[in-house]
Amino acid sequence: MTQSISTTCVQGGYRPGNAEPRQIPIYQNTTWKYDTSEHMGKLFDLEESGYFYTRLANPTNDYVAAKIAELEGGAAAMLTSSGQAANFFAVFNIAGAGDHVVSSASIYGGTYNLLAHTMRRMGVECTFVDPNCTDAELEAAFRPNTKCVFGETIANPALTVLDIERFAAAAHAHGVPLIVDNTFPTPILCRPIEWGADIVTHSTTKYMDGHGATVGGVIVDSGKFDWTAHADKFPGLTQPDESYHGVVYTERFGLAGAYITKATAQIMRDLGSIQAPQNAFLINMGLESLHLRMAQHAKNGLAVARHLAAHPKVAWVRYPGLEGDAEYERVRKYLPEGACGVVSFGVAGGRAAAETFMANLKLAQIATHVADARTCVLHPANTTHRQMNDEELAAAGISPDLVRLSCGIEAAEDLIADLDQALAAV
Ligand SMILES: *Cc1c(COP(=O)(O)O)cnc(C)c1O
Repeated sequence: MTQSISTTCVQGGYRPGNAEPRQIPIYQNTTWKYDTSEHMGKLFDLEESGYFYTRLANPTNDYVAAKIAELEGGAAAMLTSSGQAANFFAVFNIAGAGDHVVSSASIYGGTYNLLAHTMRRMGVECTFVDPNCTDAELEAAFRPNTKCVFGETIANPALTVLDIERFAAAAHAHGVPLIVDNTFPTPILCRPIEWGADIVTHSTTKYMDGHGATVGGVIVDSGKFDWTAHADKFPGLTQPDESYHGVVYTERFGLAGAYITKATAQIMRDLGSIQAPQNAFLINMGLESLHLRMAQHAKNGLAVARHLAAHPKVAWVRYPGLEGDAEYERVRKYLPEGACGVVSFGVAGGRAAAETFMANLKLAQIATHVADARTCVLHPANTTHRQMNDEELAAAGISPDLVRLSCGIEAAEDLIADLDQALAAV
């Protein structure tokens, strides 16, 4: 029986047995007790599965990771303490010093810094490409040491829509996986694995939590990428791991388990950044209503974008789900049920006019946050992207006057009234 994604939001991941807790229990413990050292030794050697230390695994986290894997149509998943940790681990699990990554230039500012600067200091180089580059330009970005391709389904904040099939085909032609950050659509609006992506990441801080309560991340593996077919590129998965008595992840755990087991047993073990079980519990509360909230976010996003597009004090509107938008056709293909609640636009009159507008909003509140039940608004060039110079900003698709409006799940007419009165003050 194939189950609707709405039902998976509510009931996926955790299926209690007779007389077991109806809601996911929070395992608020660091350690587990065992009768013998031999038993614990087997866990340390990955010979048996079981819990021994929350930095590596905790049942609460595993229930929530399992639900997200089901939602994305993946084989396995791992929660992380933040979206930044998720993207870092997703790449670092298969790329190290001397390796190279191809990434869309239109990505979240934190991920851009991670790939352009911090991972470079670790010896991993990144070539950024315009997500709408020509085939020849995309081809030219690859090197013999390229280990993955990275992009965002709907980029934060530029709202460019990734042609997932095209990027997946290019990655696969070079024997490497496509990693897609699917934070903005969530699996309710787009499931990248169905379009050829191999690994999906999220900042669960955004729509999955949805209530502005917890920072978190997740990595989902499709289990479909054949690491053994490109064994020379991925020795970490296909050759013995000396830190685990020579376990070969692809042999011991198969294609469905190798990538997430390595990320857990090796990267999480050594770098930390596990999600707190309390936070995993809160994310699950968000997931239970994700399908309802995403429908309302998408509805409000479209209504607000249409209204702004017709407003005389608005210079331009970017909402990929808006009829006539340059990427409208791509939205119809990849996001037929809506393009989330984030709208960007420019207030006529430039930076100063935008600042007056921001200061006059009442319902929409200034916050370094998006994808929340409550409408929030941000000026990226002055905040999240301020480390970038004008050239980098332009490459990421951000103009200095860009206002990012994240439509919550309030009534659309109230949001529109608030925008109108703030625009009237300009
Ligand atoms: C917010 C965000 C991140 C970073 O997530 P944190 O949870 O803040 O660490 C990564 N990718 C995208 C698309 C985001 O919006």
